[in-house]
Amino acid sequence: MKKTILITGANKGIGFEMATQFGKLGHHIILTARDETRLEQAIQKLMEGQIKVEGLMMDVADEESIRNASEKFVQLNLKLDVLINNAAILDKEDRSILQENEDLLLKSLTTNSYGALRVVRAFLPFMKNPSRIINISSEGGSMTDPIGGWAPAYCVSKSMLNAITRHLAAELMPRNISVNAVCPGWVRTDMGGAGATRPVEIGAETPVWLATEAPQTLTGCFFRDKKQIPW
Ligand code: NAP
Repeated sequence: MKKTILITGANKGIGFEMATQFGKLGHHIILTARDETRLEQAIQKLMEGQIKVEGLMMDVADEESIRNASEKFVQLNLKLDVLINNAAILDKEDRSILQENEDLLLKSLTTNSYGALRVVRAFLPFMKNPSRIINISSEGGSMTDPIGGWAPAYCVSKSMLNAITRHLAAELMPRNISVNAVCPGWVRTDMGGAGATRPVEIGAETPVWLATEAPQTLTGCFFRDKKQIPW
């Protein structure tokens, strides 16, 4: 069955690659991005590949922008099968939670975690029964791995996103909406850098599987390479 899939921060990187893979499977993409020019360029590229795509401007760090996007979404007269919270920021120079400035921590939380929650709240009225929410997280947010020394603001924001995933999974179970988190691994994108071990196609594989093939009953879990991993 063809699905309608909204992806945040999808003008490049893993978000754009997911859109490409979904599009090739014949799904309908709602591609969102915070910058109009980058949004249009991404849409153009997908349309050249005959992919069915609509664009929505949405800055996930800005509540008004999220509200505007959900109001525009109404005009498309669509319901969502899948919502993917992918947009995120990472400051690679951030080394110490004691020394980092407060702005960076707040900006990371507003974008990477609270932003995802706000997007869920805004688009929940359009989610089908059944449907799926996928939060692109990171093992950097894991509470079981060794912690410390690398991008604490980003890691804390992903821990919060993981906690939000668990709460949403519990609250949305009665509405038949599954909610899971995914770590894509270390992927060669602007965020991951040229030295990363994985191509973007592999980074997108697990969220694409979760959106299309995984059992709907899987909820409240954290995945990497299509396997459940500890939080
Ligand atoms: P990327 O290439 O840097 O892409 C990030 C995307 O997020 C861009 O489209 C960016 O838009 C968008 N974005 C950032 N802030 C936004 C905002 N406020 N509103 C809307 N969009 C915003 O990163 P990526 O590697 O594809 O990362 C995608 C996801 O995978 C992220 O959640 C990341 O944390 C996760 N992840 C990545 C890796 C990795 O190794 N790459 C590892 C673990 C997890 P602009 O172009 O406008 O900046």
